[in-house]
Amino acid sequence: MYDLLIRGGRVVDPKNGVDAVLDVAIEDGRVVEIGEELAGCAKETLDAAGKIVIPGIIDMHTHMRTLFGHPHAQRMIALAGVCTTLDMAGPTDNILDSIPGSGAGVNIAILEAARAPLTLSCDRPAKAEREALIDRVLEEGAIGIKLMGGHFPMDLDISQALIEEANDKKAWVGWHVGNTVNGSNILGLRDAVAAAEGKFLHVAHVNSYCRAQVRDELSEALEAIDLLKANPNLFSESYLSPLNGTRLTIENDEPVSKVTVTCLKKVGCTPDYAGMQEAILKGYAGVLRDDGVIGELISGPEGVEYWKSQNTVTSGSFAVNPATSRFLLAQAKRDNGSFVVDCFSTDGGTYPRNVIVENGLLLVQFGAVTLNEFVVKASLNGALALNLPSKGHLAVGADADVSILDFDAKKAYATVVNGKIIMKEGQLLGSGTGIVCDERGEAALTKRGIRAIVKGALDPQAIVNRHLC
Ligand SMILES: [Zn+2]
Repeated sequence: MYDLLIRGGRVVDPKNGVDAVLDVAIEDGRVVEIGEELAGCAKETLDAAGKIVIPGIIDMHTHMRTLFGHPHAQRMIALAGVCTTLDMAGPTDNILDSIPGSGAGVNIAILEAARAPLTLSCDRPAKAEREALIDRVLEEGAIGIKLMGGHFPMDLDISQALIEEANDKKAWVGWHVGNTVNGSNILGLRDAVAAAEGKFLHVAHVNSYCRAQVRDELSEALEAIDLLKANPNLFSESYLSPLNGTRLTIENDEPVSKVTVTCLKKVGCTPDYAGMQEAILKGYAGVLRDDGVIGELISGPEGVEYWKSQNTVTSGSFAVNPATSRFLLAQAKRDNGSFVVDCFSTDGGTYPRNVIVENGLLLVQFGAVTLNEFVVKASLNGALALNLPSKGHLAVGADADVSILDFDAKKAYATVVNGKIIMKEGQLLGSGTGIVCDERGEAALTKRGIRAIVKGALDPQAIVNRHLC
Protein backbone atom coordinates (compact mmCIF):
# COMPACT_ATOMS: atom_id res chain seq x y z
CA MET A 1 0.00 0.00 0.00
CA TYR A 2 1.27 3.46 -0.94
CA ASP A 3 1.65 6.11 1.75
CA LEU A 4 0.37 8.83 -0.56
CA LEU A 5 -1.10 8.91 -4.05
CA ILE A 6 -1.19 12.20 -5.93
CA ARG A 7 -3.92 11.63 -8.48
CA GLY A 8 -4.56 13.04 -11.93
CA GLY A 9 -2.38 16.17 -12.01
CA ARG A 10 -0.41 17.44 -14.99
CA VAL A 11 3.10 16.28 -14.09
CA VAL A 12 5.84 18.51 -15.51
CA ASP A 13 9.34 17.05 -15.00
CA PRO A 14 11.89 18.54 -17.43
CA LYS A 15 14.76 16.29 -16.38
CA ASN A 16 12.83 13.20 -17.43
CA GLY A 17 11.01 14.82 -20.36
CA VAL A 18 7.60 14.28 -18.74
CA ASP A 19 4.57 16.51 -19.36
CA ALA A 20 1.40 14.45 -19.00
CA VAL A 21 -1.57 13.77 -16.74
CA LEU A 22 -0.29 11.09 -14.37
CA ASP A 23 -0.56 9.67 -10.85
CA VAL A 24 2.45 9.82 -8.54
CA ALA A 25 2.71 7.11 -5.86
CA ILE A 26 4.84 7.66 -2.78
CA GLU A 27 6.16 5.31 -0.13
CA ASP A 28 8.77 5.87 2.61
CA GLY A 29 9.51 9.38 1.34
CA ARG A 30 10.27 8.26 -2.23
CA VAL A 31 8.45 8.18 -5.54
CA VAL A 32 7.74 4.46 -6.09
CA GLU A 33 5.55 4.55 -9.18
CA ILE A 34 4.40 7.08 -11.73
CA GLY A 35 1.86 6.40 -14.45
CA GLU A 36 -1.68 6.75 -15.73
CA GLU A 37 -4.46 5.87 -13.27
CA LEU A 38 -2.40 3.71 -10.91
CA ALA A 39 -4.50 0.95 -9.39
CA GLY A 40 -2.82 0.51 -6.00
CA CYS A 41 -4.40 1.54 -2.70
CA ALA A 42 -3.02 4.39 -0.64
CA LYS A 43 -3.27 5.47 2.99
CA GLU A 44 -3.86 9.01 1.76
CA THR A 45 -4.89 10.42 -1.62
CA LEU A 46 -4.37 13.94 -2.91
CA ASP A 47 -6.64 14.87 -5.79
CA ALA A 48 -4.57 17.00 -8.18
CA ALA A 49 -7.01 17.08 -11.13
CA GLY A 50 -6.66 20.42 -12.91
CA LYS A 51 -3.45 21.18 -11.00
CA ILE A 52 0.21 21.18 -12.03
CA VAL A 53 2.46 18.69 -10.24
CA ILE A 54 6.17 19.55 -10.27
CA PRO A 55 9.33 18.45 -8.45
CA GLY A 56 9.59 20.32 -5.15
CA ILE A 57 10.43 23.99 -5.53
CA ILE A 58 13.91 24.95 -4.32
CA ASP A 59 14.25 28.63 -3.38
CA MET A 60 18.00 29.28 -3.57
CA HIS A 61 17.94 32.46 -1.47
CA THR A 62 15.93 32.90 1.72
CA HIS A 63 16.44 33.62 5.42
CA MET A 64 15.18 31.09 7.95
CA ARG A 65 16.51 32.62 11.16
CA THR A 66 14.07 33.29 13.97
CA LEU A 67 16.01 36.23 15.41
CA PHE A 68 14.42 39.71 15.59
CA GLY A 69 11.08 38.22 16.68
CA HIS A 70 10.23 36.60 13.36
CA PRO A 71 9.82 32.85 13.88
CA HIS A 72 7.54 32.34 10.86
CA ALA A 73 10.04 31.84 8.01
CA GLN A 74 9.54 28.10 7.53
CA ARG A 75 5.76 28.48 7.60
CA MET A 76 5.98 31.22 4.97
CA ILE A 77 7.87 29.08 2.48
CA ALA A 78 5.72 25.99 3.09
CA LEU A 79 2.65 28.10 2.30
CA ALA A 80 4.41 29.33 -0.86
CA GLY A 81 4.90 25.79 -2.19
CA VAL A 82 8.64 25.65 -1.44
CA CYS A 83 10.06 22.28 -0.31
CA THR A 84 13.76 23.09 0.02
CA THR A 85 15.65 26.32 0.47
CA LEU A 86 19.12 27.75 0.80
CA ASP A 87 19.37 30.03 3.82
CA MET A 88 21.83 32.77 2.98
CA ALA A 89 23.28 33.87 6.35
CA GLY A 90 22.36 31.53 9.23
CA PRO A 91 23.11 31.72 12.10
CA THR A 92 23.22 27.92 11.90
CA ASP A 93 22.72 27.38 15.63
CA ASN A 94 19.67 29.68 15.66
CA ILE A 95 18.05 27.78 12.80
CA LEU A 96 18.83 24.36 14.29
CA ASP A 97 17.68 25.42 17.77
CA SER A 98 14.42 26.79 16.38
CA ILE A 99 13.32 23.53 14.71
CA PRO A 100 11.13 22.26 17.59
CA GLY A 101 9.01 25.43 17.67
CA SER A 102 9.28 26.69 14.11
CA GLY A 103 9.72 23.59 11.97
CA ALA A 104 7.14 23.43 9.20
CA GLY A 105 8.41 20.28 7.50
CA VAL A 106 10.64 21.92 4.88
CA ASN A 107 14.30 21.20 4.01
CA ILE A 108 16.96 23.85 4.63
CA ALA A 109 20.59 24.17 3.53
CA ILE A 110 22.46 26.84 5.45
CA LEU A 111 25.28 29.25 4.64
CA GLU A 112 26.87 30.83 7.69
CA ALA A 113 27.76 34.52 7.39
CA ALA A 114 31.52 35.16 7.34
CA ARG A 115 31.39 38.36 9.30
CA ALA A 116 33.29 40.18 12.02
CA PRO A 117 32.72 40.25 14.92
CA LEU A 118 30.17 37.40 14.85
CA THR A 119 32.07 34.59 13.13
CA LEU A 120 35.43 36.26 12.41
CA SER A 121 37.54 38.19 14.93
CA CYS A 122 38.23 41.13 12.58
CA ASP A 123 37.76 42.34 9.01
CA ARG A 124 41.18 41.01 7.94
CA PRO A 125 41.38 37.54 9.53
CA ALA A 126 44.47 35.42 8.85
CA LYS A 127 44.33 32.35 6.63
CA ALA A 128 44.25 29.93 9.57
CA GLU A 129 41.21 31.67 11.05
CA ARG A 130 39.39 31.78 7.70
CA GLU A 131 39.98 28.07 7.11
CA ALA A 132 38.94 27.20 10.66
CA LEU A 133 35.63 29.02 10.06
CA ILE A 134 34.92 27.00 6.92
CA ASP A 135 35.77 23.70 8.67
CA ARG A 136 33.65 24.60 11.68
CA VAL A 137 30.51 25.54 9.72
CA LEU A 138 30.65 22.34 7.67
CA GLU A 139 31.01 20.24 10.81
CA GLU A 140 28.05 22.03 12.43
CA GLY A 141 25.70 21.21 9.55
CA ALA A 142 25.97 24.25 7.24
CA ILE A 143 27.10 23.75 3.63
CA GLY A 144 29.39 26.77 3.38
CA ILE A 145 29.79 30.48 3.93
CA LYS A 146 28.27 33.75 2.77
CA LEU A 147 30.20 36.96 2.26
CA MET A 148 28.00 39.87 3.36
CA GLY A 149 29.51 42.56 1.12
CA GLY A 150 26.36 44.66 0.93
CA HIS A 151 26.04 45.28 4.66
CA PHE A 152 29.45 44.30 6.07
CA PRO A 153 32.00 44.67 3.26
CA MET A 154 35.53 43.31 3.55
CA ASP A 155 38.61 44.17 1.51
CA LEU A 156 38.62 42.59 -1.92
CA ASP A 157 41.73 40.46 -1.27
CA ILE A 158 40.18 38.91 1.87
CA SER A 159 36.92 38.19 0.04
CA GLN A 160 38.92 36.60 -2.78
CA ALA A 161 40.92 34.46 -0.33
CA LEU A 162 37.68 33.17 1.25
CA ILE A 163 36.35 32.14 -2.17
CA GLU A 164 39.57 30.28 -2.92
CA GLU A 165 39.67 28.55 0.47
CA ALA A 166 35.99 27.54 0.26
CA ASN A 167 36.62 26.04 -3.19
CA ASP A 168 39.64 24.14 -1.87
CA LYS A 169 37.51 22.67 0.89
CA LYS A 170 34.60 21.97 -1.49
CA ALA A 171 32.36 24.27 0.55
CA TRP A 172 29.62 26.43 -0.98
CA VAL A 173 30.46 30.13 -1.07
CA GLY A 174 27.90 32.88 -1.67
CA TRP A 175 28.54 36.59 -1.95
CA HIS A 176 26.19 39.52 -1.61
CA VAL A 177 28.69 41.50 -3.65
CA GLY A 178 30.37 44.59 -2.30
CA ASN A 179 33.82 45.33 -0.91
CA THR A 180 35.48 48.25 0.84
CA VAL A 181 35.93 50.10 -2.48
CA ASN A 182 32.80 49.27 -4.48
CA GLY A 183 29.43 48.61 -2.87
CA SER A 184 26.39 46.44 -3.56
CA ASN A 185 26.03 47.54 -7.19
CA ILE A 186 27.16 46.75 -10.72
CA LEU A 187 30.73 47.85 -9.91
CA GLY A 188 30.81 45.50 -6.93
CA LEU A 189 29.54 42.74 -9.24
CA ARG A 190 32.41 43.40 -11.67
CA ASP A 191 34.90 43.09 -8.78
CA ALA A 192 33.29 39.87 -7.54
CA VAL A 193 33.35 38.24 -10.97
CA ALA A 194 37.04 39.10 -11.36
CA ALA A 195 37.86 37.94 -7.81
CA ALA A 196 36.31 34.49 -8.43
CA GLU A 197 38.95 33.88 -11.14
CA GLY A 198 37.04 31.03 -12.73
CA LYS A 199 36.29 29.29 -9.40
CA PHE A 200 32.83 28.46 -8.07
CA LEU A 201 30.95 31.42 -6.59
CA HIS A 202 27.26 31.90 -5.89
CA VAL A 203 26.40 35.48 -6.83
CA ALA A 204 23.48 36.38 -4.58
CA HIS A 205 20.38 38.19 -5.91
CA VAL A 206 21.80 39.58 -9.17
CA ASN A 207 18.78 41.91 -9.45
CA SER A 208 20.09 43.92 -6.47
CA TYR A 209 22.95 45.23 -8.58
CA CYS A 210 20.59 46.38 -11.33
CA ARG A 211 18.60 49.00 -9.41
CA ALA A 212 19.93 52.04 -11.29
CA GLN A 213 22.47 52.92 -8.62
CA VAL A 214 25.32 53.55 -11.05
CA ARG A 215 23.61 53.82 -14.46
CA ASP A 216 20.07 53.02 -15.62
CA GLU A 217 18.63 49.62 -14.68
CA LEU A 218 18.41 48.39 -18.28
CA SER A 219 22.10 48.83 -19.06
CA GLU A 220 23.04 47.46 -15.62
CA ALA A 221 20.95 44.32 -16.22
CA LEU A 222 22.51 43.85 -19.66
CA GLU A 223 26.01 44.17 -18.19
CA ALA A 224 25.16 41.69 -15.43
CA ILE A 225 23.91 39.23 -18.06
CA ASP A 226 27.11 39.67 -20.11
CA LEU A 227 29.30 39.13 -17.03
CA LEU A 228 27.45 35.94 -16.08
CA LYS A 229 27.51 34.63 -19.67
CA ALA A 230 31.26 35.15 -19.90
CA ASN A 231 31.85 33.41 -16.55
CA PRO A 232 29.97 30.09 -16.48
CA ASN A 233 31.70 29.22 -13.18
CA LEU A 234 29.26 31.56 -11.41
CA PHE A 235 26.00 30.22 -10.01
CA SER A 236 23.36 32.92 -9.61
CA GLU A 237 19.76 33.63 -8.71
CA SER A 238 17.55 36.68 -8.89
CA TYR A 239 14.30 37.72 -7.26
CA LEU A 240 10.88 37.80 -8.71
CA SER A 241 9.57 40.15 -6.00
CA PRO A 242 9.69 43.95 -6.18
CA LEU A 243 10.21 44.11 -2.40
CA ASN A 244 13.57 44.52 -0.70
CA GLY A 245 14.23 43.89 2.98
CA THR A 246 15.77 46.38 5.34
CA ARG A 247 15.68 47.79 8.85
CA LEU A 248 13.33 50.67 9.59
CA THR A 249 15.03 51.55 12.89
CA ILE A 250 15.82 55.23 13.45
CA GLU A 251 18.57 56.33 15.86
CA ASN A 252 19.50 59.99 16.43
CA ASP A 253 17.04 60.98 13.70
CA GLU A 254 18.86 58.79 11.13
CA PRO A 255 18.05 55.34 9.71
CA VAL A 256 20.55 52.76 11.03
CA SER A 257 20.67 51.15 7.57
CA LYS A 258 22.30 52.75 4.53
CA VAL A 259 19.86 50.81 2.36
CA THR A 260 16.96 52.59 4.08
CA VAL A 261 18.55 56.00 3.45
CA THR A 262 18.77 55.20 -0.29
CA CYS A 263 15.18 53.91 -0.37
CA LEU A 264 13.77 56.97 1.41
CA LYS A 265 15.49 59.33 -1.03
CA LYS A 266 14.24 57.25 -3.94
CA VAL A 267 10.59 57.59 -2.86
CA GLY A 268 11.01 61.33 -2.18
CA CYS A 269 11.10 61.21 1.61
CA THR A 270 13.77 62.68 3.87
CA PRO A 271 16.21 60.16 5.46
CA ASP A 272 15.10 60.85 9.04
CA TYR A 273 12.31 60.06 11.53
CA ALA A 274 9.73 62.28 9.80
CA GLY A 275 10.61 60.89 6.38
CA MET A 276 10.36 57.28 7.56
CA GLN A 277 6.97 58.00 9.14
CA GLU A 278 5.77 59.58 5.89
CA ALA A 279 7.00 56.60 3.83
CA ILE A 280 5.07 54.13 6.02
CA LEU A 281 1.96 56.34 6.09
CA LYS A 282 1.89 56.70 2.30
CA GLY A 283 2.57 53.00 1.72
CA TYR A 284 6.06 53.38 0.18
CA ALA A 285 7.38 51.21 3.00
CA GLY A 286 5.74 48.30 4.83
CA VAL A 287 6.57 47.38 8.43
CA LEU A 288 7.07 43.67 9.11
CA ARG A 289 4.82 42.31 11.88
CA ASP A 290 4.55 38.70 13.01
CA ASP A 291 0.86 37.88 13.41
CA GLY A 292 1.61 34.68 15.35
CA VAL A 293 1.63 32.43 12.28
CA ILE A 294 3.06 34.41 9.37
CA GLY A 295 4.80 37.72 8.75
CA GLU A 296 2.88 40.54 7.11
CA LEU A 297 3.77 44.02 5.90
CA ILE A 298 1.58 46.81 7.23
CA SER A 299 1.52 50.46 6.20
CA GLY A 300 -0.79 53.47 6.54
CA PRO A 301 -1.81 54.67 10.02
CA GLU A 302 -1.74 51.07 11.35
CA GLY A 303 1.84 50.66 10.15
CA VAL A 304 2.95 53.94 11.69
CA GLU A 305 1.31 53.04 14.99
CA TYR A 306 3.05 49.65 15.10
CA TRP A 307 6.42 51.16 14.10
CA LYS A 308 6.13 53.73 16.91
CA SER A 309 5.01 51.09 19.42
CA GLN A 310 8.30 49.24 18.74
CA ASN A 311 10.32 52.46 19.20
CA THR A 312 11.07 52.12 15.44
CA VAL A 313 13.09 48.92 16.02
CA THR A 314 11.50 47.02 13.12
CA SER A 315 12.30 45.60 9.72
CA GLY A 316 10.34 46.26 6.57
CA SER A 317 10.31 46.53 2.80
CA PHE A 318 10.33 49.08 0.02
CA ALA A 319 9.29 48.12 -3.54
CA VAL A 320 12.63 49.01 -5.13
CA ASN A 321 13.47 46.14 -7.49
CA PRO A 322 12.75 47.50 -10.97
CA ALA A 323 10.50 45.36 -13.18
CA THR A 324 12.80 45.77 -16.20
CA SER A 325 15.87 44.18 -14.63
CA ARG A 326 13.85 41.48 -12.84
CA PHE A 327 12.24 40.51 -16.14
CA LEU A 328 15.49 40.47 -18.16
CA LEU A 329 17.31 38.41 -15.54
CA ALA A 330 14.39 35.97 -15.27
CA GLN A 331 14.41 34.96 -18.92
CA ALA A 332 17.93 35.61 -20.29
CA LYS A 333 19.61 32.58 -21.88
CA ARG A 334 23.10 31.61 -22.99
CA ASP A 335 23.91 30.70 -26.57
CA ASN A 336 23.59 26.97 -25.68
CA GLY A 337 20.04 27.44 -24.38
CA SER A 338 20.76 27.27 -20.64
CA PHE A 339 19.60 30.08 -18.36
CA VAL A 340 22.07 32.87 -17.57
CA VAL A 341 20.66 33.25 -14.07
CA ASP A 342 20.25 29.70 -12.82
CA CYS A 343 17.33 30.01 -10.42
CA PHE A 344 14.33 32.03 -9.38
CA SER A 345 14.76 33.18 -5.79
CA THR A 346 12.98 35.49 -3.39
CA ASP A 347 15.16 36.44 -0.39
CA GLY A 348 11.91 35.56 1.39
CA GLY A 349 11.20 33.43 4.38
CA THR A 350 10.98 36.09 7.00
CA TYR A 351 9.69 38.74 4.60
CA PRO A 352 6.40 38.05 2.79
CA ARG A 353 7.88 37.97 -0.70
CA ASN A 354 7.90 34.22 -1.36
CA VAL A 355 6.53 34.64 -4.86
CA ILE A 356 8.24 32.03 -7.03
CA VAL A 357 4.82 30.52 -7.81
CA GLU A 358 2.83 33.75 -8.12
CA ASN A 359 5.26 35.72 -10.24
CA GLY A 360 6.90 32.74 -11.94
CA LEU A 361 3.58 31.49 -13.29
CA LEU A 362 2.79 35.03 -14.44
CA LEU A 363 6.00 34.86 -16.51
CA VAL A 364 4.69 31.61 -18.00
CA GLN A 365 1.33 33.22 -18.78
CA PHE A 366 3.14 36.21 -20.31
CA GLY A 367 5.16 33.88 -22.53
CA ALA A 368 8.56 34.86 -21.15
CA VAL A 369 9.33 31.27 -20.10
CA THR A 370 7.55 27.97 -20.79
CA LEU A 371 6.11 25.91 -17.96
CA ASN A 372 8.93 23.44 -18.50
CA GLU A 373 11.49 26.25 -18.16
CA PHE A 374 9.72 27.53 -15.04
CA VAL A 375 10.35 24.12 -13.44
CA VAL A 376 14.01 24.21 -14.52
CA LYS A 377 14.53 27.53 -12.72
CA ALA A 378 12.24 26.81 -9.77
CA SER A 379 13.49 23.32 -8.95
CA LEU A 380 15.88 21.39 -11.22
CA ASN A 381 18.75 23.89 -11.41
CA GLY A 382 18.88 24.30 -7.63
CA ALA A 383 19.00 20.52 -7.15
CA LEU A 384 21.77 20.15 -9.73
CA ALA A 385 23.86 22.95 -8.22
CA LEU A 386 23.47 21.61 -4.67
CA ASN A 387 24.36 18.13 -5.95
CA LEU A 388 21.14 16.59 -4.68
CA PRO A 389 20.58 13.99 -7.41
CA SER A 390 17.33 12.69 -5.95
CA LYS A 391 15.70 16.13 -5.97
CA GLY A 392 14.65 18.37 -8.87
CA HIS A 393 12.79 15.57 -10.68
CA LEU A 394 10.10 12.92 -10.09
CA ALA A 395 11.45 9.66 -11.49
CA VAL A 396 10.95 6.44 -9.53
CA GLY A 397 13.40 6.60 -6.63
CA ALA A 398 13.40 10.40 -6.41
CA ASP A 399 12.74 12.11 -3.09
CA ALA A 400 9.01 12.65 -2.66
CA ASP A 401 9.26 16.44 -2.61
CA VAL A 402 6.41 17.76 -4.74
CA SER A 403 4.87 21.18 -5.30
CA ILE A 404 1.28 21.15 -6.55
CA LEU A 405 0.26 24.39 -8.21
CA ASP A 406 -3.00 26.03 -9.20
CA PHE A 407 -2.13 27.79 -12.45
CA ASP A 408 -5.34 29.87 -12.65
CA ALA A 409 -4.96 31.17 -9.10
CA LYS A 410 -1.14 31.47 -9.48
CA LYS A 411 -0.83 29.84 -6.07
CA ALA A 412 0.61 26.76 -4.45
CA TYR A 413 -2.21 24.30 -3.79
CA ALA A 414 -0.19 21.80 -1.77
CA THR A 415 3.40 21.18 -0.66
CA VAL A 416 4.69 17.64 -0.10
CA VAL A 417 8.09 17.09 1.52
CA ASN A 418 9.65 13.70 2.18
CA GLY A 419 6.32 12.11 1.27
CA LYS A 420 4.30 14.12 3.80
CA ILE A 421 1.75 16.83 3.00
CA ILE A 422 3.07 19.88 4.83
CA MET A 423 0.61 22.35 3.30
CA LYS A 424 -2.72 21.98 1.58
CA GLU A 425 -5.06 24.80 0.53
CA GLY A 426 -3.36 27.25 2.85
CA GLN A 427 -3.41 24.92 5.87
CA LEU A 428 -0.03 24.19 7.46
CA LEU A 429 0.28 20.50 8.32
CA GLY A 430 4.03 19.90 8.75
CA SER A 431 6.53 19.94 11.57
CA GLY A 432 10.25 19.33 12.00
CA THR A 433 12.90 20.26 9.45
CA GLY A 434 15.30 18.39 7.20
CA ILE A 435 18.76 19.93 7.03
CA VAL A 436 20.71 19.60 3.79
CA CYS A 437 24.32 19.19 4.89
CA ASP A 438 27.80 18.30 3.78
CA GLU A 439 28.95 14.78 4.69
CA ARG A 440 31.17 16.44 7.30
CA GLY A 441 28.04 17.73 9.14
CA GLU A 442 25.91 14.59 9.21
CA ALA A 443 27.15 13.34 12.57
CA ALA A 444 26.44 16.60 14.42
CA LEU A 445 22.90 16.81 13.04
CA THR A 446 22.09 13.16 13.71
CA LYS A 447 23.34 13.57 17.27
CA ARG A 448 20.82 16.39 17.72
CA GLY A 449 18.01 14.22 16.32
CA ILE A 450 17.71 16.28 13.16
CA ARG A 451 16.90 14.65 9.80
CA ALA A 452 20.13 15.06 7.78
CA ILE A 453 20.03 15.12 3.97
CA VAL A 454 23.61 14.65 2.82
CA LYS A 455 24.40 16.44 -0.42
CA GLY A 456 27.10 15.43 -2.87
CA ALA A 457 30.37 17.35 -2.81
CA LEU A 458 30.49 20.74 -4.47
CA ASP A 459 30.98 20.09 -8.17
CA PRO A 460 32.04 23.26 -10.03
CA GLN A 461 32.06 21.44 -13.35
CA ALA A 462 28.36 20.57 -12.94
CA ILE A 463 27.67 24.31 -12.60
CA VAL A 464 29.56 25.00 -15.82
CA ASN A 465 27.68 22.15 -17.57
CA ARG A 466 24.33 23.53 -16.38
CA HIS A 467 21.04 22.06 -17.61
CA LEU A 468 20.32 22.85 -21.24
CA CYS A 469 16.67 23.66 -21.89
ZN1 LIG B 1 19.39 37.65 1.54
